[in-house]
Amino acid sequence: MRDSLTATGASSVGDDSARDVILDLVPVIRRVVAARVRDFQLVDDLVQETLARVMAARNRIEQDTLAPYAVAVARNLVVAVGQGQERARRTAHLMVDHTPNPPADGEVLQREEGTVVGAALARLSRQEREVLLAHEVDGAGTAELAARRGSTPGAIAAQLNRTRAKLRVEYLMADSGVSPPTDRCRPVLFALSAGDRRRQRELDTAGHLLECDCCLGLSTALFDRRPAQQDDDEATLMVTKDSDVVTARQLGREMAVRAGFTSTDLTLIATAISEIARNIVKFARRGEIVIRLVDEHGRRGVTVVARDAGPGIADTAAALRDGVSTYRGLGLGLPGARRLMDEFDLVSEVGKGTTVTMAKWR
Ligand SMILES: [Zn+2]
Repeated sequence: MRDSLTATGASSVGDDSARDVILDLVPVIRRVVAARVRDFQLVDDLVQETLARVMAARNRIEQDTLAPYAVAVARNLVVAVGQGQERARRTAHLMVDHTPNPPADGEVLQREEGTVVGAALARLSRQEREVLLAHEVDGAGTAELAARRGSTPGAIAAQLNRTRAKLRVEYLMADSGVSPPTDRCRPVLFALSAGDRRRQRELDTAGHLLECDCCLGLSTALFDRRPAQQDDDEATLMVTKDSDVVTARQLGREMAVRAGFTSTDLTLIATAISEIARNIVKFARRGEIVIRLVDEHGRRGVTVVARDAGPGIADTAAALRDGVSTYRGLGLGLPGARRLMDEFDLVSEVGKGTTVTMAKWR
C-alpha cells in the first residue's frame, strides 16, 4: 500500500527517491487532515501547507523521519486552524511566518537576564557556554578561539554549530515549560536541530517521534521557528498554485541579491523563474523549484532547476520557439525564460514530466 507510513519510509537513497518519498507522503498527510477536517478546500490547503513545510525542512531531516514529521506538522496545522488562526492559515501559503519570530542566537544571548534564556544557557556545559559567549557577544573569531584553546578553527566552528543547535532546543523546552519524558529525547532533538542526518539515523529519530508526542511537538516547533534559511545556498519551493509563482519569484530575487547581481539582472532572473513556475502550475499542477547559489571557477551565479511530473512536452524545440508559446500571448513562456538567462536546458518526456535547468552568471 502506497499510503501506509511504513511503505513511505522504505525507499532507497538518492535524489529521485527522496522526491518520491515527498510525493508518497501526500496520501498519508491527506488521511491525517481529512480525518479531522470536513471542508474539502481546507483539507487541500492544509495538505499543501504541510507539504511546503516538509519540503522546506527535508534537507535537515533524515528520510525515514519525514513521514512522522509530516504527520506532526499536519496535526499541528489542523489544531492551529481549530484555534481560529484563520488569517495565519490564509497567509501561510506565502510561506511567510506571521507568528512572532524567536530572537536570533545573538539576540538570545544579549537578553541573558531573561529567565527562559538563562535556563537554556544553564543547560550548556561551561565550556560550550564560554566559547559561545566569547564568539557571539565578545565577537571573538574562530581562529582566535582556536588559538586560545589549543584547537583548530574548524573544530571550534563545528562545536559552535552543535552548541547553537543545543541552545535552540533548550530554549524551546524552557520557553514551553516542557520537560522531556525519556533519556533519548534530548539527543534526538539535538540531532534534529543540528540537521545531522547520520546521527538521526543512529538514534532512530523516526521511531522515537512516532512514540514520543513531546518530541513530535517540539520538533515541528524547532523547524517552524527556524528563521527562513537565509544562510543556505539552496532553497527549495513546492509549486502548486498561483501564489507559489509569486513566492518563487521573490525567493529567486533574494538569492540573486546574495549572489551580487545588478538590479536589472535581478528582474530578469525573477521573471524567468516566475515564467517556469507559471508553466508548472498551468500544465503540471505540481512541481518543485530548486534555486542555488553557485561559485564555479570564481564565477558567482544562480542556477534554477524546475521539475514536474506533468504531461510533458512532445516537441520541445517547438515549445522553445517564440510565438509557439502555449500561453497564447499570456506571459513570456519558456522561450522568454530562455532569453532572460545565460544557460537554459529543457528536458521533457511525454507522460513523465519536464525539467528545466537554467543559470545566470555575474
Ligand atoms: Zn522524546
